[in-house]
Amino acid sequence: MSKKKMLYDGKAKTIFEGPTPDTVIQYFKDDATANNAEKHAIIDGKGVLNNSISDFLMRRIQEIGIPTHYIKKINMREQLVKKVEIIPVEFVVRNIAAGSIVKRLGLKEGEVFKNPLIEYYLKRDDLGDPFINEDHIINFKWGTREELEEMQEYGLRINDFLRGLFLGVGLKLVDFKIEFGRHFSDEHDGVLLLADEISPDNCRLWDIKTNNKYDKDLFRQELGGLKEAYQEVAERLKILPEKKKYSSFKTEIVK
Ligand code: UDP
Repeated sequence: MSKKKMLYDGKAKTIFEGPTPDTVIQYFKDDATANNAEKHAIIDGKGVLNNSISDFLMRRIQEIGIPTHYIKKINMREQLVKKVEIIPVEFVVRNIAAGSIVKRLGLKEGEVFKNPLIEYYLKRDDLGDPFINEDHIINFKWGTREELEEMQEYGLRINDFLRGLFLGVGLKLVDFKIEFGRHFSDEHDGVLLLADEISPDNCRLWDIKTNNKYDKDLFRQELGGLKEAYQEVAERLKILPEKKKYSSFKTEIVK
């Protein structure tokens, strides 16, 4: 673990101060949580896999011209990223019905939406991340109208791009959650960047033939095999050269 000063300890990542005032280090932990941290386990090796998967996806997203906080992967568990002030909104894009929307609207799991659906949730663990709409974001000044429009544009472009990328490796992108932040530096004043991570912790990925799950629902629904599934996502994306390297991971349930 980094010896640098800790700035924030989150559920799946710890943030440390970076080498310059406008950067931070994201450390990927092995902790898995669900139901607002009611369920918690340590899944040995998850952080290493998510660091690699998120590193790969952030770089690809940057290549299509979407500004991200990503700078570089430092080691197995750490990334150097631009420091941002996180916009307190979880931005969800859905292509297929799964998870909370199935319950909320009485949908059939697996129903394919005619168009991608954007949803917003307030980032407030103490309130259980409530569902919010655009008016809430503007009225309560969690984001400006310009930021909201930019987030929508980026979110839909990321969705189109990732859908194609995952389809190419036999996976359906069911839905995902992203977060944005404002970066302040000598050159920029509050520029909107894609932040956080993109990994099977915050996407739903189903096999195109079997509909088998390759994401955190394996943990949420206690189906098991999460580490192996994340490993397979990394292998399919050709970012995991050696299968053997991960074969000694154990899954230990903490509570
Ligand atoms: N998601 C996330 N963090 C959250 C809530 C949701 O990363 O705190 C992701 C989740 O993995 C899924 C998408 O956002 O890919 C939509 O999640 P949903 O609203 O269905 O929530 P859940 O079923 O997790 O309650």
